[in-house]
Amino acid sequence: MTGQSRPPALHLRGVFLPQEQERDAWIVDGRLSFTPVPDAETIADRGWIIPGFVDAHCHIGLSPSGHEPDPDGQAKQAILDRDAGALLLRDAGSPVDNRSVQARADLPRLVRAGRHIARPKRYIRDLGVEVEPADLVAEVERQAAAGDGWVKIAADWIDRTQGERSDLAPVWPDEILAAAVARAHELGVRVAAHVFGEDALPGLIAAGLDSIEHGCGITADLLDEVVRRGIAVVPTLINIDTFPMIAAQGAEKYPTYSAHMRALHATSRERIRSAYEAGVQLFVGTDAGGLLQHGLVREEITALVQAGLPQPEVIAQASWRARQWLGFAGLVEGAEADLIVYDSDPRVDLATLYEPRRIVLRGRVVSPIG
Ligand SMILES: [Zn+2]
Repeated sequence: MTGQSRPPALHLRGVFLPQEQERDAWIVDGRLSFTPVPDAETIADRGWIIPGFVDAHCHIGLSPSGHEPDPDGQAKQAILDRDAGALLLRDAGSPVDNRSVQARADLPRLVRAGRHIARPKRYIRDLGVEVEPADLVAEVERQAAAGDGWVKIAADWIDRTQGERSDLAPVWPDEILAAAVARAHELGVRVAAHVFGEDALPGLIAAGLDSIEHGCGITADLLDEVVRRGIAVVPTLINIDTFPMIAAQGAEKYPTYSAHMRALHATSRERIRSAYEAGVQLFVGTDAGGLLQHGLVREEITALVQAGLPQPEVIAQASWRARQWLGFAGLVEGAEADLIVYDSDPRVDLATLYEPRRIVLRGRVVSPIG
């Protein structure tokens, strides 16, 4: 990156994951090498070395208090994520330009989805680009050009036209969704969709989207097809834990919706566990930027483990598997040196996640310094 001196060569030794191999490695010009380099500074001589975590669903430029167009404010968010171990972020839609993060070598890598594509009155106000179904395909084209290989569609939300019977409902007709996903794929772009409830899922899955965000409405009858199509689910359990609060706010005016949100929360762990057991690929996303602060990747990892997923699997999803899904390498010769050194094996010890010995991003120790 501009204005920065060439970083010194670094040396580290430890057990590399997922290979589970104890070895020496060197970092030169931001990249990993297993060929010895003279005069390298040793930054770790033991421990467990893991590819940096991925927050597969967060929002840089969005905070619980509103939009954050200021690059310094965006950097603060990204640093919270980084210091929690998330060295690669998939931004699941931002209302503001957050490319400033990509210009700074000390901030996590960022894969952006452009702006949320929503429908008027069918999503959080002022967050997404709002279009009617007839314009969905054209908006997908625009956001495909604006992002880094992903577009984000808000695919279910409360339909407030039904009085007290108002409930979560699909936002888009199935055939429009199918055309939108097909167009994104023609353009080489993947599609992520926000979906809380059950009813939007069959249409999305039939359309062949790439990732279901939240997905707490997933039902057993859909799992085989989700697996067959290689569709990922990013559960954002710590965000689903805000559902009882959202339900309480709407309880009087929208009792059906409120009860539905409570039920989705109550069954979320069981449904995500069933998805895991059926072989659905799951990734770790916090949804930071909406109701939650940044820097919570460890809390989402913990929530998934507490939901009953095997801890080694959750660590794999949060680290090398998510990197691979987004097109980034693991800890192999020549790979970007984005890694964390822990004193003990994070696959068996979650407490170690809170005491990283070293966090290395683009070949530099970013935390803890010294
Ligand atoms: Zn989100």
